[in-house]
Amino acid sequence: MSQSFEAFGFRPELLQGIKDLYYKEPTPIQAEAIPLILAGKDVIGQAQTGTGKTAAFVLPILQRLQPQKRDIQALILTPTRELSIQIADDIAKLGKHLDVSVLSLHGGTDIERQLAKLKQKVHIVVGTPGRVLDHLQRESLHFGRISTLVLDEADKMLEMGFLEEVVQLLASTPQHRQVLLFSATMPDQVKKLAQQFMKQPPHIKIENKQKTVEQIEQIYYVVNQSDKMDALLDLLESTNPYLAIIFANTQQRVQILTAKLQELGYAAEALYGDLSQKKREQLMRQFREIKFQYLVATDIAARGLDVEGVTHVFNYDLPNDVESYIHRVGRTGRAGQAGTAISLISPRQKAIMQRIAKATKATVEEKLLTAGRHLEAGRRERAKEREAHFAALREEKAREQAEEKKKKEAPLAAALKKAAKVKPGYKKKLQKEIEHWQSTYEQKRKREEAKAARKAGMKKKPSAAKEKR
Ligand code: AMP
Repeated sequence: MSQSFEAFGFRPELLQGIKDLYYKEPTPIQAEAIPLILAGKDVIGQAQTGTGKTAAFVLPILQRLQPQKRDIQALILTPTRELSIQIADDIAKLGKHLDVSVLSLHGGTDIERQLAKLKQKVHIVVGTPGRVLDHLQRESLHFGRISTLVLDEADKMLEMGFLEEVVQLLASTPQHRQVLLFSATMPDQVKKLAQQFMKQPPHIKIENKQKTVEQIEQIYYVVNQSDKMDALLDLLESTNPYLAIIFANTQQRVQILTAKLQELGYAAEALYGDLSQKKREQLMRQFREIKFQYLVATDIAARGLDVEGVTHVFNYDLPNDVESYIHRVGRTGRAGQAGTAISLISPRQKAIMQRIAKATKATVEEKLLTAGRHLEAGRRERAKEREAHFAALREEKAREQAEEKKKKEAPLAAALKKAAKVKPGYKKKLQKEIEHWQSTYEQKRKREEAKAARKAGMKKKPSAAKEKR
């Protein structure tokens, strides 16, 4: 096994491109495949993404490229446009000092623009079989000078029903071209294709899937749904990722989460299936160029996403199956770099985490959440909200009870009211009667007094006369 890229005898411009990407030494698939490919052999590489398989075929292609010629010298077929774009991107980076011209031909983009580009110098074409065949039939592409043809992710390509196109494309390239086939699995269809079109290819097999996950530190926290956002914010602060992908299960949750992060000043963008192809490509490019730091995504949108420097993957929501979990987690720890995967789960999802640990043969560690400033503030805020809610409930209850009491006592109140109504009237009447009687009595008394006075006056007069005498 070769321990350095220099040992392959690569040209200095290519070594510089490798250095620019900070690749220190070849990965196992590169160490095994590159010498065979440089020797001109057809090669079958059985390896997953994450093993460095792209550079395993790109580097020898670039080593033998003749940039001064205008011919298309290599054709790389991929199952998806995302992968096509990504490979074209890798080629442009590794071949930066070589004046290489690469073009990705994939559906979902303007064919006229692709045609215009094809009129310029193109050394390497990467594309999906349908679109490449389309160009071949329009005669906008000529494969007469192709020296290397790569079938990347061949199993997926055939699974997606591209066999016919692939066969047609293989048949339209020169007989003596070299065929390189990369595939994670080797189903019969792929084996047959290899037998038919490849010349005694050595078969290199790299077992890496579980290792990819094993290299990644996997942690989970049991979190209440209401604490999730704050827990994530605390974890973002405490882990301080270089680049992070945050997965949520629905488009809506992705959008809400992104809006919240943006509001708090995080450089975050949302990636989900409904975005236009153009927008998705733009976002992925920007993420790769570290124009923003946090990519919030759904599973579908992040399929095959391969970005270096992703130090953390967060499962804001746990995915529905183990496969998706492995895929998500595999977005970090690329090519031997360290990576951390953090999942926020509900108490009930603990069993799922155990299943995942078993399936990935990896340790998945439960950690206890220490409340940081967001969680503490959030909890305080929620406690306040709860208190206000309960106070409102209590008030409401008291009001209801008062209402109830009032209803119950209504007949009595009515009776009292009636009684109360009768009494003042009666009193008044009584008062009037009393007053009437009082005045009658007074008048009578006064009359009697006057009468008595008159009587008394008459008796005094004769005695007075007697005295005068
Ligand atoms: P691939 O398996 O081609 O999808 O590559 C996985 C990741 O590994 C990509 O991000 C590559 O840029 C990176 N890579 C490829 N070769 C090396 C290497 N020799 N050293 C470090 N990283 C590498």
